[in-house]
Amino acid sequence: MRDNLEMKSAIKSQLFRELPSVDEVLRTPAAVALASAHGTPAVTDAARAVLSRLREEISSGLLDESALRLALNGLGEALERHLKQALGYSLRPVINATGVILHTNLGRAPLAESALRHIHETAGRFSNLEFDCETGVRGRRDVHVDRLFRSWLDEGAADLKTIDLKTIVVNNNAAAVLLALNTLADDGEVIVSRGELVEIGGSFRIPDVMTKSGATLREVGTTNRTRVADYENAITERTRLLLRVHRSNFEITGFTEQVSTAELVALSRQRDIPLMEDLGSGALVDLQNFGISGEASVLDSLRAGVDVVTYSGDKLLGGPQAGLISGRAALVARMRTNSLFRALRVDKLTYAALEGTLLAYVKRDHDAIPTLRMMRLTKEEIGQRAQTLAGQIKSSKLRIEIIDGESVIGGGAAPSSVLPTRLLALSCAGLSADELAARLRAFDPPIIARVEQGRVLLDLRTADEDAAIGAALNGIAS
Ligand SMILES: *Cc1c(COP(=O)(O)O)cnc(C)c1O
Repeated sequence: MRDNLEMKSAIKSQLFRELPSVDEVLRTPAAVALASAHGTPAVTDAARAVLSRLREEISSGLLDESALRLALNGLGEALERHLKQALGYSLRPVINATGVILHTNLGRAPLAESALRHIHETAGRFSNLEFDCETGVRGRRDVHVDRLFRSWLDEGAADLKTIDLKTIVVNNNAAAVLLALNTLADDGEVIVSRGELVEIGGSFRIPDVMTKSGATLREVGTTNRTRVADYENAITERTRLLLRVHRSNFEITGFTEQVSTAELVALSRQRDIPLMEDLGSGALVDLQNFGISGEASVLDSLRAGVDVVTYSGDKLLGGPQAGLISGRAALVARMRTNSLFRALRVDKLTYAALEGTLLAYVKRDHDAIPTLRMMRLTKEEIGQRAQTLAGQIKSSKLRIEIIDGESVIGGGAAPSSVLPTRLLALSCAGLSADELAARLRAFDPPIIARVEQGRVLLDLRTADEDAAIGAALNGIAS
């Protein structure tokens, strides 16, 4: 026993002696070539990392004499692999084959071409972000988006022209809600239905945001039933705002009662207390046209008489991460002068992306917006592409079936609406579904799939990279 231990440690010492020094590695032709491409400091780091990994493997007994020889012969490739990782980006594109259109973990809305072009043409140069070229004096960054929003309204909602509306932009919808509550209700009370006290994405909770804003939450009604009289009876001289929150990620069914927007508007007018709605997703188009019912748009709310609406830029709107606040100019102007606005404002990249996105809306070019385009795809179109893709897979190991399924909107929009789709259902001889999904994630770009009932499911509604998926599947199977 003891002899055995001593022998093992003698072998390890012998193996350690065979490891080259960092300097010796750097003098090898492979390292010299890599250093001229990537610089000596990066290659030195790589050599240290690769050698220290080998030392660990010797220590833990994972390497014997011949395995070490092999590893040392492949030192050049090991350096190259390390450099590729160390000098590559961490944030990179993935293929979203989950069928969830607005996937928060996968970056929500992909941007429209026009948005990308506009970022490209403005961000690498100076711009008139806050400069009025006509007068030669300082301008406001708000004008870029407010202008487009107004012309979009003028085109599509002539009936709203009588109201003076203004739109401002902050970092995300959580910030929009915070700024609006702090401006309109600091030190006062905000009345909200208990059925709408939601938590979204794990960290956005209405009661918490309310506390941070300095306003006091006044809950009314019960989880499943709230009547307009509940709001009315809760109004005191401290009440500053009536708030409605989109439930986003859940529905209450059964014995329920919710106050209509019209009733809340009537109450707000009668008592002269503004009404705000946190729409969450905030669609700019009527989603009925996309087969989704019961989801109010930004226009629906403003038209119904809601004074202020807040919504995300990267959910149904299909733009960059941002929070938009649209509403009566007098109220929104107060938010604009709140010092919190300065802390929550967005940069030129976001304005460029929003302009590029909103311009597509102004032109009524909805197909230019990837999220809307994905929603519009029919089950038949998706099924045909799935069929073509399946026909290109040459493998006896991979079993592919094309089955009916459902895509979802995600991002807290229309939680109970699904879009019928066709899915590629995959199984592979010798691999579990989880292992197959892991292989797909190991591709470049990684392919993210759903695993259900022992099969890997790919939904092409959210992934238009058919050729890359085909190549990956052929690669796995061979
Ligand atoms: C998504 C959502 C938010 C948070 O929006 P972010 O842009 O992610 O900050 C807030 N309220 C509602 C109702 C939402 O659906």
